[in-house]
Amino acid sequence: MKAYPINFVSIVIPVYNEQQSLPELLRRTQAACAQLKHAYEIVLVDDGSRDESAELLQQAAEREGSPVVAVILNRNYGQHAAIMAGFEQCRGDVVITLDADLQNPPEEIPRLVQLAEQGYDVVGTVRSNRQDSAWRRWPSKLINLAVQRSTGVAMTDYGCMLRAYRRTIVDAMLACSERSTFIPILANSFARHTTEVLVEHAEREHGDSKYSPMRLINLMFDLITCMTTTPLRLLSIIGFSMAFLGVLFAALLIVLRLMFGAQWAGHGTFVLFAVLFVFTGGQFIGMGLLGEYLGRMYSDVRARPRFFIEKVVRSASSGAADTIDSSASLYLSKVAP
Ligand code: UDP
Ligand code: MG
Repeated sequence: MKAYPINFVSIVIPVYNEQQSLPELLRRTQAACAQLKHAYEIVLVDDGSRDESAELLQQAAEREGSPVVAVILNRNYGQHAAIMAGFEQCRGDVVITLDADLQNPPEEIPRLVQLAEQGYDVVGTVRSNRQDSAWRRWPSKLINLAVQRSTGVAMTDYGCMLRAYRRTIVDAMLACSERSTFIPILANSFARHTTEVLVEHAEREHGDSKYSPMRLINLMFDLITCMTTTPLRLLSIIGFSMAFLGVLFAALLIVLRLMFGAQWAGHGTFVLFAVLFVFTGGQFIGMGLLGEYLGRMYSDVRARPRFFIEKVVRSASSGAADTIDSSASLYLSKVAP
């Protein structure tokens, strides 16, 4: 792993109705950034807040020599879309994302930058003492396990947004044109070296979580569909198992009928069940088949970059530069139109 020179650090923070947290957020984030030996900017994205957040951000950005950049969206697009908007506007070699509600301590920023400087593409965080209710913790544990299994990238906590991404990873994410996405998982699909650090997790001081149960369900589906189309394949698997069971059951009924007579076969009643199993199984198989097409269409429609070249190495004698850094060689071509 090669060390990665960093000149400029960007902090990206999505803000949605957080006027009470903003003053402290700005103060603590700026204090943390002042400890960096790099130049920095703090990009705050207002995600269509209905309170004074947008005005506060604008004021902070307009101040003379302020490191704050205010990005104001016209309406509410959701946390991950807001972060994407921040990615588009920031110019750091390393980009740190953070929540505006101060549940993640901004004081950890220098530590994340230091790790990114050592060459990690993505630095994740694990909440050491997560201050959320059990009904938030358990689904998130399950999802983390599922993600680990399907992406093969061993990260224990995808829910914590305090993360650092290298420029190349941010560019790769920006090249993905899908609408609903889950940034930590998308980032990991482009990363080679990842690491995690333990951070504190505080209780939300002002306001409530911006996620209603409905939005939480939506987010979970975003997360699942962002990484895999396996649920569609499950339909085929269920179908095949059901049809197989149906056939087995029918065979058993025939054997019982031949060996022990009509009453062992329930006078034909159970034959209906066997037939039903086979037909329902057939329907599921049909749906699974549709799902396979749909899954492929979905991945084409998302038009993610086909691949992500981290670097190209050539011998110096071939005339070209010996190493082209990944930042120059992100393959932006989309799936053929
Ligand atoms: N957020 C946003 N748009 C939304 C919902 C949330 O920009 O539609 C921001 C919010 O201001 C906060 C972060 O996303 O900075 C995380 O939101 P929240 O703390 O409500 O989520 P939780 O901690 O409950 O998962
Ligand atoms: Mg929060």
